[in-house]
Amino acid sequence: MAGPQAKHNTGYPTDPACIFCKIIAGELPCARVYEDGSILAFLDISPIAKGHTLVVPKGHFPTLLDLPESGGEALFKALRLVAGAVKAETGAGGFNCVQNNFTPAGQVVFHSHIHIIPRFDNDGLPGWPGGRYADTDEMQQLARSISARTGK
Ligand code: AMP
Ligand code: ZN
Repeated sequence: MAGPQAKHNTGYPTDPACIFCKIIAGELPCARVYEDGSILAFLDISPIAKGHTLVVPKGHFPTLLDLPESGGEALFKALRLVAGAVKAETGAGGFNCVQNNFTPAGQVVFHSHIHIIPRFDNDGLPGWPGGRYADTDEMQQLARSISARTGK
């Protein structure tokens, strides 16, 4: 029986209720810009800028924390190739790669993906507001605590 996370004959997990899985399965249309055995890239339907592209692993993995490490090289390779093509075709001077994880970070589609956003000088898109730590001790202590969790 096919339920969420079911493995179909594709070799990767899929969720029949997921909009990106439906696009990958060809059940919904997309403006495709790249495809290989494990990755599909297509234009975002609601672009921040024209050429805004989503690079989507074909497997249904909800967030970055679920993505298998084994797909990392293929994903990075596709990301570089597509980002270069988007930059060249749009004439953008630069681009942001953005990956939203979990609701507070703005993730809406829980099928992990990376946004490529073409950027132009003075394009008016907001930058990151810079915050600050109370002092360097707070910053160093936080770095040590996170490092302990990574084990490295
Ligand atoms: P996120 O906030 O990272 O989950 O972003 C999800 C993105 O998917 C949004 O930018 C949407 O505009 C985009 N999106 C949703 N449905 C479609 C679709 N059918 N085709 C292309 N992009 C889509
Ligand atoms: Zn999915």
